[in-house]
Amino acid sequence: MNKMRTIGMIGGMSWESTAEYYRLINQDVRQRLGGLSSAQVLLHSVNFAGIERLQRNGQWNIAGIRLAEAARNLEAGGAHCIVLCTNTMHLVAPQIAEAVSVPFLHIVDPTGIEAHARGFRTLGFIGTAFSMRESFFRDRLQERHGIATILPEPAEQAVVHDIIYRELCMGIVTEESRTLYRSVLQGLAARGADAIVLGCTEIMLLVRDSDSPVPLLDTTMLHARAAVDFSLAQS
Ligand code: GLU
Repeated sequence: MNKMRTIGMIGGMSWESTAEYYRLINQDVRQRLGGLSSAQVLLHSVNFAGIERLQRNGQWNIAGIRLAEAARNLEAGGAHCIVLCTNTMHLVAPQIAEAVSVPFLHIVDPTGIEAHARGFRTLGFIGTAFSMRESFFRDRLQERHGIATILPEPAEQAVVHDIIYRELCMGIVTEESRTLYRSVLQGLAARGADAIVLGCTEIMLLVRDSDSPVPLLDTTMLHARAAVDFSLAQS
């Protein structure tokens, strides 16, 4: 029997996407190992209302302290790695990674590796306003993986952000919002994106490859797969 390492997930941001991580990780383990195999996971799920308030007020340091504590608890409980199930909160990734001695599997890296493997050089990027505005995702992609990103126009960025918080994080998926996202994806492709990063873990609930003229890189799926790679790698 394969020896599995335990995946420590920090989730709840929102739980709609954490449920997808849990499903994708378990499906992947079953596919790789067969039979009744399933993933060894510890989940620390936070109350997103509190985190969202801190985001809105710019209190990132307090959010970082809370998530670092969650990571420490996961490690104390036996987690062999930390997977933070949201792009936005990677803004405080250094604070979380420093709090533990187990590896922190950063969400940018599997995206960069996938883009590189498929020969993409310029990626469109959509996510929350924080992820689009701040440099933590796009700089790491550029510096560690040599990949440039382009963003939607400002008005489109606002639409993308609002749909994430008002709908997707609340489990609401509408045809109207899908149409709006399709036009954002088309705009990015027209401006030279080889592929587009779904840089928010709920966006995969709304659009899929068939909604886009260029391939989509879904951070939820890529991050979940990286967690399984780590869990099943021979230590
Ligand atoms: N899950 C989202 C992300 O990947 C947004 C929610 C949050 O702010 O954490 O960025």
